[in-house]
Amino acid sequence: MPLEEYKSKRDFTRTPEPENNRQTSDKPIFVIQEHHATHLHWDLRLEIDGVLKSWALPKPPPLESGVKRLAVQTEDHPLSYADFTGVIPDGEYGAGKVDIWDKGKLIIKKLNSNSIHFELDGKKLKGEFILIRFKGREESSKNWLFFKKK
Ligand code: MN
Repeated sequence: MPLEEYKSKRDFTRTPEPENNRQTSDKPIFVIQEHHATHLHWDLRLEIDGVLKSWALPKPPPLESGVKRLAVQTEDHPLSYADFTGVIPDGEYGAGKVDIWDKGKLIIKKLNSNSIHFELDGKKLKGEFILIRFKGREESSKNWLFFKKK
């Protein structure tokens, strides 16, 4: 079950976040949510394999090429999360306000376990972008670099 970790971290009687996934569409999407949690960050989510693959960015998403951002991979989220805005209550996982920063169409150009090359057609982010996993001792490193292609 790909969403086990997502579900295990949340109490759906307390958080307004969506519990269940929805059917995938033939037009994949991306969303970036601005999350006013303990530390303000931006959550990049890409529709891949029927879920939203997710990364937390400590700094604002790269609008220009040449800007490289750390992207820390987090648990897969349900597709229905792409529409979520609201306030996660104090005491719950990720407590704080969530707004949609950008959203739009996603085209995956190339995908493997260590890198993703994709095109975004949002209001703020447009063009080709790259996510590359940090090379490290562990294949499963959660740290990636996110940047706009020249
Ligand atoms: Mn977050």
